[in-house]
Amino acid sequence: MIEIKDLHKSYKMGSNSLHVLKGVNFSVAEGELVSIMGSSGSGKSTLLNILGMLDEADEGSYTLDGVAIKNLNEKIAARYRNKFLGFIFQSFNLISYKNALDNVALPLYYQGIKRGERIDKAMSYLEKVGLADWAGHLPNELSGGQKQRVAIARALASDPKVLLADEPTGALDSKTSYDVMNLIQEINDEGRTILVVTHEADIAAMTKRIVNLKDGRIIQDTKVNQVRAQQNV
Ligand code: ATP
Ligand code: MG
Repeated sequence: MIEIKDLHKSYKMGSNSLHVLKGVNFSVAEGELVSIMGSSGSGKSTLLNILGMLDEADEGSYTLDGVAIKNLNEKIAARYRNKFLGFIFQSFNLISYKNALDNVALPLYYQGIKRGERIDKAMSYLEKVGLADWAGHLPNELSGGQKQRVAIARALASDPKVLLADEPTGALDSKTSYDVMNLIQEINDEGRTILVVTHEADIAAMTKRIVNLKDGRIIQDTKVNQVRAQQNV
């Protein structure tokens, strides 16, 4: 699903340059649930942004579902991004003046889907994340965990092949984090490929594979015996 080879990325600031990714190689097969760990500044978000086609590497190759991602014009890049990728962020990034349902329906609007169908689809995704009763509520009327569920429903609405989550539990308490990761596990169980950036070992332990980044390189790549949510918690 994802294959990157010898990826390099530097940030240029004036005459200085910061070499952040120093030859990253890895691949992710369809249906994997992978966490990317590493200390602050190790390049996790940089890597995820490149995988998410929000930024481009300086060197190396990136193939996403068989498509070579390099030097695409913005229109084509946007089309692939919408088709292949869904995003979840630490800070939820919901639109504050739109209710939960309209937040989830927004990606469908950009896909040109008619309003009636948009609403039906958005509602089914809100149901999936357990928030059907909250459809009419604005983000500031929801708890952090509920906001993240809305954001997950929104990410799923465009039916992406890959979900990319940058610290999805970073703003949540541990019980709520566990619930959100449980939902992410369920979505993965349905076959969707998911990458989760986190610096919390407990969160990484709920994925199937942990990739460790250090100083711009992958230093460890381990399969884990995934911690599963228990019933009735
Ligand atoms: P954190 O755990 O704190 O989120 P991270 O592993 O996600 O860290 P990155 O955000 O990828 O780290 O940043 C890696 C390095 O690149 C850091 O030193 C950061 O200051 C620098 N950096 C990130 N984005 C930019 C940018 N747009 N311009 C310049 N430097 C940047
Ligand atoms: Mg980061």
